[in-house]
Amino acid sequence: MSTHTDPIPEIELRDGVSIPQLGFGVFLVPAAETESAVAAALATGYRHIDTASGYRNEAEVGSAVRASGLDRGDVFITTKCFNDAHGYDEAKRAAHLSLERLDLGMIDLYLIHWPVPAQDRYVDTWRAFIDLQAEGLVRSIGVSNFQPAHLQRIIAETGVTPAVNQIELHPRMAQGELRRLHRELGIATTAWSPLARGALLDDPAIAAIAQRHGRTPAQTVLRWHLQIGNVVIPKSITPERIRENIEIFDFELGADDIAAIDGLERGERIGPDPDTFVRP
Ligand code: NDP
Repeated sequence: MSTHTDPIPEIELRDGVSIPQLGFGVFLVPAAETESAVAAALATGYRHIDTASGYRNEAEVGSAVRASGLDRGDVFITTKCFNDAHGYDEAKRAAHLSLERLDLGMIDLYLIHWPVPAQDRYVDTWRAFIDLQAEGLVRSIGVSNFQPAHLQRIIAETGVTPAVNQIELHPRMAQGELRRLHRELGIATTAWSPLARGALLDDPAIAAIAQRHGRTPAQTVLRWHLQIGNVVIPKSITPERIRENIEIFDFELGADDIAAIDGLERGERIGPDPDTFVRP
């Protein structure tokens, strides 16, 4: 597989760590297929992999990175602490287990996967994250699926602002309120399910914009993400799509295209509601 050559832009996080704006997500990639999918992504030019302990494929991600022959410092690895490991000691234990499974040295970005307000332990979990970063086990720390109240609470109670909030974000759920708050607080936004799992790729407005630019609907949606400032982590196990999804750095949507895609907002989640989600 030939390597993509346009440089992938990086976003500097509030703690000075740089994250590639395009990553490769591996949620729902079965462990047996993860090594080959990640190998294909790395061979194509991706340098950022998004996994989680809950995806049960961290070990395979680690094997693929080690087998790639790339310098460890050239690949950015995100993983996440799951809902059953909230609490100070539990989160520290979970981080050590992820470090062992990945076997890649430091984790580049460690996220609290969900706030699970019903457990009310995310502040203690965040305190563990702060210490994990201070101990040098993880380079950068952040959260996922945090609503404004959860962000404000961890910041008020610990004084430490997360570097990233990874949230469901696509044209039908564009998260304007959270993105504004992230900007105010200096938090980077990562978009999960950036393609709405394919659900919006046959939308006529997107198809029309894609056709004007000679691109596919998926490339058009991913380009929208880049231009509104998101980090974006599409998932695919299909080699042609893995390549398609990285070929997004050599064209530019106009302001009218961005506005038309913004107009698809419906406040429509495809994933769980973070205020009530407890377990998968
Ligand atoms: P995506 O929006 O990335 O969609 C993935 C789906 O779209 C797959 O079915 C894939 O098919 C298909 N697809 C990918 N590229 C194309 C293309 N170019 N054309 C047509 N179809 C395409 O959804 P995900 O939910 O997987 O989200 C991406 C990543 O976000 C996850 O892998 C995970 O890393 C992260 N995530 C984080 C969550 C969190 O709570 N923090 C929750 C959910 C996801 P195929 O694979 O068959 O090619």
